[in-house]
Amino acid sequence: MISNLSFVTPTPDSPWGTYLMQVDRVTPYLGHLARWVETLKRPKRALIVDIPIELDDGTVAHYEGYRVQHNMSRGPGKGGVRYHPDVTLEEVMALSAWMSVKNAAVNLPYGGAKGGIRVDPKKLSNKELEKLTRRYTSEIGFIIGPQQDIPAPDVNTNGQIMAWMMDTYSMNVGATATGVVTGKPIHLGGSLGRVKATGRGVFVTGREAARRIGLDLQGARVAVQGFGNVGSAAGELFVQAGAKIVAIQDHSGTIFNDKGFDLAELMPHVRATGGVGGFKGGEKMNAEEFWDVKCDILIPAALEGQITAERARRITAKLVLEGANGPTLGSGDDVLSDRGILVVPDVICNAGGVTVSYFEWVQDFSSFFWTEDEINVRLDKIMVDALKRIWAVADEHKITLRTATFAVACERILIAREERGLYP
Ligand code: GLU
Repeated sequence: MISNLSFVTPTPDSPWGTYLMQVDRVTPYLGHLARWVETLKRPKRALIVDIPIELDDGTVAHYEGYRVQHNMSRGPGKGGVRYHPDVTLEEVMALSAWMSVKNAAVNLPYGGAKGGIRVDPKKLSNKELEKLTRRYTSEIGFIIGPQQDIPAPDVNTNGQIMAWMMDTYSMNVGATATGVVTGKPIHLGGSLGRVKATGRGVFVTGREAARRIGLDLQGARVAVQGFGNVGSAAGELFVQAGAKIVAIQDHSGTIFNDKGFDLAELMPHVRATGGVGGFKGGEKMNAEEFWDVKCDILIPAALEGQITAERARRITAKLVLEGANGPTLGSGDDVLSDRGILVVPDVICNAGGVTVSYFEWVQDFSSFFWTEDEINVRLDKIMVDALKRIWAVADEHKITLRTATFAVACERILIAREERGLYP
């Protein structure tokens, strides 16, 4: 692993370290394009901003924010913005790089970018959150734009935050620019189907993978980590397909129900309390026991670094669907593959969100909006076709789906790099 970036020293298990290892693993499959591989190991541009806001009690607080544009060879930067107390520059770098790979894997005309603010948004009032969002947008305003870099929701950000971002950017440029962010509310140029798109993509890739390994979804046992936008939407679709969710873990607790949760009861509890903890329709369980639960499909849909080698040895699932970005460490990945557990990697599994973001961006440009059915049919086709191509590469080289996704995506990125040439 080489990285002589002066501003970050990755450890092997950090997100950026994990990403660099994934690039090293794909390099032997890049042929003559390997000449350009160093491009993938350094972000094109990384911006760190100070965000001062006046809190409701009159004091002034400072937060650190980032926007990293990893690669723009294939088009404008694209990727979400997360608000979380653990956000660091190094994490945002990795997330932006995974966006480059993800966008190329589904062949969207985008590069990869990501943003974040180190903040616990649960501790801020709505007014404070609005001020934080507007100042952050203003500070990164000179590098984002409908043709430059298009943010979207990620962990702890949503349609309301995208509306504030769109409004702030629009005020600064003097014209309404709906295409500057995606994941907006519907009446502000948002797209039908966007909220559940990531979860839908997880389901679609999971359904295809299950079919290929002969796993029947009828009666299949599913365990989900993270029950936000991604985990709950994917879980709902699996239940509709006949599977049952036997275990759920989120920031509020871990719950188990051998017969499968009744989502009609669970969802109102999650909406009312903000998490699954305290739900009466199941048993409470210790957090670490989640990884031992007897299941067929495991969906990590929370944060990075969850599947360590130690947990990977205990997982009973046949199929792991990475709804989150970067949930599996390199060492965990090796254990899963040695044990014959199939992993559909984040960079294809959760690409449904950005795919519908792309649809939103296209609809905003043409000011012509599609039906939810059109969106879901197009999403399904893009995900199925992309996975088919990746699977063929995996079979051809006898490599994991992760390395195959990187092979397909990095080839596309580096061909664009080579064809565009170096400037000057
Ligand atoms: N944050 C989502 C992701 O990680 C969506 C990004 C987007 O829609 O631009 O893929």
